[in-house]
Amino acid sequence: MNKHSRQILSIFLFLFLVVWVGPAYGLIISGTNENVKSRSFRIGGTRYVPLISACRAFGVDWDWDPVSRKITLSKNRSFLVLLVGSNTYSIDGKIGRFKGKIEFSKGIILIPKTFIYGEDWWIEVPGIKTTVRHRINVVVIDPGHGGKDSGAIGRSGLREKDVVLSVAKYLREFLASHGVTAILVRTGDRFVSLGNRANFSNKNNADFFISIHANAWRDRRPKGFEVYYLSAATDDYARAVAARENAVLKMENSSADSINNQDPTVWDLKATENSRESIELASSIIEAMSRNIPARNRGVKSARFYVLKKVDAPAVLVEMGFISNPSEEAKLKTRNYRKKLARAICEGIVAYKNIYDKTNGFTD
Ligand SMILES: [Zn+2]
Repeated sequence: MNKHSRQILSIFLFLFLVVWVGPAYGLIISGTNENVKSRSFRIGGTRYVPLISACRAFGVDWDWDPVSRKITLSKNRSFLVLLVGSNTYSIDGKIGRFKGKIEFSKGIILIPKTFIYGEDWWIEVPGIKTTVRHRINVVVIDPGHGGKDSGAIGRSGLREKDVVLSVAKYLREFLASHGVTAILVRTGDRFVSLGNRANFSNKNNADFFISIHANAWRDRRPKGFEVYYLSAATDDYARAVAARENAVLKMENSSADSINNQDPTVWDLKATENSRESIELASSIIEAMSRNIPARNRGVKSARFYVLKKVDAPAVLVEMGFISNPSEEAKLKTRNYRKKLARAICEGIVAYKNIYDKTNGFTD
């Protein structure tokens, strides 16, 4: 990076801070925040932080084009463009290079920690009170399936509907201990239509909607966890997972609103409404799961899940593991593993809630 581009970069980062802090507020820059430390990743000797979390912390807008893998950050009508796999950046059209490169690992965009702000990238802005957006109070948890719809069934007979209900109840308990109210769509073995799950969330003014599932595949090999948000499917696999989770529509009496007669553009319009928050929530949950769950991290993905479509809040669907994989089925049977899953999902929700509340101007 030459001297000139370094200057531009410093000015750009300075602008982030000045604009974000504003003249009336104090600013604490702290590199000792334990949460931040635990959320940094090390790849080949370089420390990385999740870009989206950093943007949240700095109040920077971001946009991500999954096809070109281009990331555009904007603040105060200034634009910083980054590319996955590249060490080149462009600030308002001027090109420069930085140490390291942008990494994309398991659905998380990572940026070298040194690029963000030396070693001290985390900012806290105390004392700001605004009513721009309310803070996170209510999370609706949707244990998938139930009643006549068993969901996936494992080789030893484990039923998806039972596993997800049990994890959902632990999750409610763990969230409560963090002061977050969680409401379950179902608390027993009861059939609920996909549309009514979304209605339930909207009626309760959910701030986040988390649908909990266990995966299944036609052969026994696939394993691991993944988190989805609503958008066009990333690939045929994601499309197949959504088709399986949407299949319950055939059991429902309302055939009028079936998945097949939906105009694709309607899906995409709906998907953009809460997409940024949904992607951030999905990233936060997958980060927490990858730290805490001893299983394969399959990453953040998107597909057209009917249940997410009608929800008015940021919404994600967690596939906790493959019930069709005998070793994962055995793990999913144990109370210990279910608690571990619930604790990790809770950690991801709370981590995002803290950033979300903070960037919306609230202090505890
Ligand atoms: Zn399911």
